Amino acid sequence: MKAEQVLNDLKRRFPNEPEYLQAVEEVLYSIEDEYNKHPEFDYYNLVERLCIPDRVYEFRVNWMDDEGKIRTNMGYRIQHNNAIGPYKGGIRFHSSVNLSILKFLAFEQTFKNSLTTLPMGGGKGGSDFSPRGKSDDEIMRFCQAFVLELGRHIGPNTDVPAGDIGVGGREVGYMFGMYKKLTREFTGTFTGKGMEFGGSLIRPEATGYGVVYFLQEMLATKGLDLKGKSVHISGSGNVAQYAAEKVLQLGGKVLTMSDSNGYIYDPDGIDEEKLAYIFQLKNVQRGRIIEYAKKYNCKYVGDGAKPWAEKADIALPCATQNELNGEQAQILVNNGCIAVSEGANMPSTPEAIKVFLDNKILYSPGKASNAGGVSVSGLEMSQNSERLSWTAEEVDNRLHAIMKDIHENCVKYGTCEDGYVNYVKGANVAGFMKVAKAMMAQGI
Ligand code: GLU
Repeated sequence: MKAEQVLNDLKRRFPNEPEYLQAVEEVLYSIEDEYNKHPEFDYYNLVERLCIPDRVYEFRVNWMDDEGKIRTNMGYRIQHNNAIGPYKGGIRFHSSVNLSILKFLAFEQTFKNSLTTLPMGGGKGGSDFSPRGKSDDEIMRFCQAFVLELGRHIGPNTDVPAGDIGVGGREVGYMFGMYKKLTREFTGTFTGKGMEFGGSLIRPEATGYGVVYFLQEMLATKGLDLKGKSVHISGSGNVAQYAAEKVLQLGGKVLTMSDSNGYIYDPDGIDEEKLAYIFQLKNVQRGRIIEYAKKYNCKYVGDGAKPWAEKADIALPCATQNELNGEQAQILVNNGCIAVSEGANMPSTPEAIKVFLDNKILYSPGKASNAGGVSVSGLEMSQNSERLSWTAEEVDNRLHAIMKDIHENCVKYGTCEDGYVNYVKGANVAGFMKVAKAMMAQGI
């Protein structure tokens, strides 16, 4: 297999899908050497079969807004690969959603889920519907209309959706409610459900906590910990909120958070009380982060700016794809940043990743460090199958163990001759090997 050749072929076939091609390119170059040690992989054309999703559903969603106007949005579900378990992955509601973005996410999800050690394949779905500014009733009607179409393609042993950007407990609840009506069965077909109806404790916290557990493991390889370290967090949604909570619990200082309009910089640190305000602001009032700057009288930079030019020891990009470019990565490194642990999916551009790797700082790609969310989704599936629910402590312990395991696997497959751990390579190779072997065993 020649990565360049496979990639050129994919570029020719899918020319209008830049995010998808970006995600594939990163994986192909990092698995090339390992792949070529296994001629049997090529015989089965595993590389193409792993890059191209099993199938893609694309549909129109019709819904009625509060003025009685009929609105349309696009809906999608990408079923990427089910070699090691049912398709599994979130649903994203955001105005930027398109086929390219969901294909990159489904592709990444396949390797991420493989890394979790749990039996889950990879998938992703979503819509260009934006929940921002919509009433609760509109969101409910949209979710119901979305599941009216999606419902026929999913199931507890087929494809299990969950949340992602724009989809939290409220949206999962509405989608699950409609799905239950359609199927007339109470099954664990969605994860991230409310605690009263099969949701797992610690699922809301899981992605953010996992990002920090992974960071702890990386720091430990250098004999370091979080105590007294300053941390940039981008985003202020679910992942960012719980990453901040865990950083505080472990003695770190959170300086920044952001949303798509801009970022706040609080030199005194966002402490527990201020973080509680952010939880309330974002999850209940559904307001913008600028309100924090007004309330606590701190610096706010608008125009969609990201916090990377500020000085901090650690950066946790927890907002969205391609939110940190090469120039910003260089500024982070110049300012003495020692570690970057990604909470979002593919937040660093290829140029940014190159800067981190060239400068040999601790850098973990989202598919390793943000795998905690889907891991606890996997645990939610197990609990639903057992019709039992585990204690928060048990779920958290398992999450912690899984993140340690993922870290160990990255070290195993990503350690270079000079001892530097390339977590990108480690995650890609470790994730890939398991899926590839499972596909081989199952024939074409
Ligand atoms: N959307 C999350 C992710 O990117 C979670 C998916 C899930 O829980 O299935 O991994």
